[in-house]
Amino acid sequence: MQKIRDFHYASIHQRQEFWRREGGRIHWETPFERTLDDSRLPFARWYVGGKTNLCYNAVDRWLPLQADRQALIWVSTEVDQERIYTQAQLHDEVNAVAAMLREQGVGQGDRVLLYMPMIPEAVFTMLACARLGAIHSVVFGGFAAHNLAQRIDDARPKVIVSADAGSRGGKVMPYKPLLDQALDLSQSRPAAVIIVDRGLAPAPLADGQWDYAELRARHEGARVPVTWLESSEPSYILYTSGTTGKPKGVQRDTGGYTVALAASMEYIFNGKPGETFFCTSDIGWVVGHSYIVYGPLIGGQATILYEGTPVRPDGAILWKLVERFKVNTLFSAPTAVRVLKRQDPELLRRHDLSSLRTLYLAGEPLDEPTARWIGEALGKPVIDNYWQTESGWPILSAQPGVERTPPRLGSPSFPTYGYDVRVIDESTGQDLEAGRKGVVAIVPPLPPGAMSTIWGDDERFVRTYFESIPGRQVYSTFDWGRVDDDGYWFILGRTDDVINVAGHRLGTREIEESISSHAKVAECAVVGVADALKGQVAAAFVVLKDPSQAEGADAMRALEGDMMRVVDQQLGAVARPARIRFVAALPKTRSGKVLRRAIVAVCEGRDPGDLATIEDPNALELIKESLK
Ligand code: AMP
Repeated sequence: MQKIRDFHYASIHQRQEFWRREGGRIHWETPFERTLDDSRLPFARWYVGGKTNLCYNAVDRWLPLQADRQALIWVSTEVDQERIYTQAQLHDEVNAVAAMLREQGVGQGDRVLLYMPMIPEAVFTMLACARLGAIHSVVFGGFAAHNLAQRIDDARPKVIVSADAGSRGGKVMPYKPLLDQALDLSQSRPAAVIIVDRGLAPAPLADGQWDYAELRARHEGARVPVTWLESSEPSYILYTSGTTGKPKGVQRDTGGYTVALAASMEYIFNGKPGETFFCTSDIGWVVGHSYIVYGPLIGGQATILYEGTPVRPDGAILWKLVERFKVNTLFSAPTAVRVLKRQDPELLRRHDLSSLRTLYLAGEPLDEPTARWIGEALGKPVIDNYWQTESGWPILSAQPGVERTPPRLGSPSFPTYGYDVRVIDESTGQDLEAGRKGVVAIVPPLPPGAMSTIWGDDERFVRTYFESIPGRQVYSTFDWGRVDDDGYWFILGRTDDVINVAGHRLGTREIEESISSHAKVAECAVVGVADALKGQVAAAFVVLKDPSQAEGADAMRALEGDMMRVVDQQLGAVARPARIRFVAALPKTRSGKVLRRAIVAVCEGRDPGDLATIEDPNALELIKESLK
């Protein structure tokens, strides 16, 4: 493991040299003058003075080399359609959409919000924004009106691009009514709304709303010049949940991100131009941004955009796509594998998987049984990689493009080059030795590609991420971790109130706020509880203003359904708790803080531990009772 250690060492201790060299992987219209400006830490500026463009590096740059090669492969098992775009066709589409957006007044620095299902038009729009130097903000299609309105108000987009509907598990999910509701709720008014009409659900257009296909037809053959951005100018905003109800707009730069993704395609994914990459995430998540859209295309690889689930029409669909499109790299989430594990193992043997080199899994802890099962079933290496919306690319991972290292079950292996990661004591800020559990933290500067700030709120960026550990300005991941004697890292869960349901990051505070908006609720607590399939699920405990309203099983069930609908409508079904239970009181400390960890322990059948600070021990008994 010497090579990987040396490589990492160079990326931190000969930082400028290391990253100057990596900077050479991408096209710079104007070369950068300095590799790193770290004079204002924790803010870092990578590739100062360099001018580049994400869309150019993903699309135009590959035209002379592979214009006729497949670049974007769209498969939908939801609507039984597929479309394949060569590099040249992708270039045409992106230019047409850029022309459409330009006509609506979109230019450099303007925000464009996407609320879209997994369709090619979403990818074209993201790339078109990048082409114009506009900042896209993709909102996950599973979110509902309230969430969407919050993001519209924060990003203040000039244009919103959406669709009539998505589809999940064969069921049409209308988007347009949710968008209309969100627009009613929000203060900020976009100049225009563009709707892709898939013919799935009615989507009447109001004033200032346009049909994508009609606009597209007007711009057939359009060519829009690339807007060259200084490296630190923002490429996009992606909202993520934290411990407050207000989501954070993670802002990313342009040059550093392009370099980071280009480098990761070789060092982490060990791939080459001309290969095929299949990432099963959603464009609404960071993994989708980096490894459905930008990473593979920047690396000259074809990318598969898949609208569907891993089990429809049957549990062999992912393997069927691997065979058909000769996929070299497959990137998914542990939850998807746990779902497949419940299927007939024969399904895995039905297809020729010889093209597949490695399976990458990320987004949530990869448990040992799942890792072992899929590794044996596939007979291919499985790489667990740990990262966050904030980092934009893996923080911990095996790096077969640097050196092949033996995997260790339950561990995402080692820090990736560029990340000066430490396990530190949360109260003293000191580095901890091997074997000790502490907070996983990163010594600034964050590497290229990681978040540059919170959109519109530099102060919150510093306060949230760099001031949570006393006496030391380090970036907190808000994850617990440990390193073993051989240097393998282990992630041991969140330090905050963020939970991870089927790889989706949710703030329990947001769900609490939503339930509390129900007129009958006095207070409530939402916690994440271990779940065999989804990793975690949300469990809610509600204290009613008038407890008699939940007397009797029927009344209780009706009220539970009622509150779940509130969450569905405000946040979306992803955030819906698995159960809502009614209790007379919540267990709290004497200072009034809800004892979430004790609630989780009780729900998981564990010992709640030290309860010295509890105000009323009976409240925990009530939680226990409610579980029966
Ligand atoms: P997100 O920002 O939605 O990507 O969620 C990031 C969080 O997911 C991290 O802070 C971790 O808590 C968790 N996570 C992501 N990848 C892994 C992994 N490989 N192992 C354990 N936890 C992970």
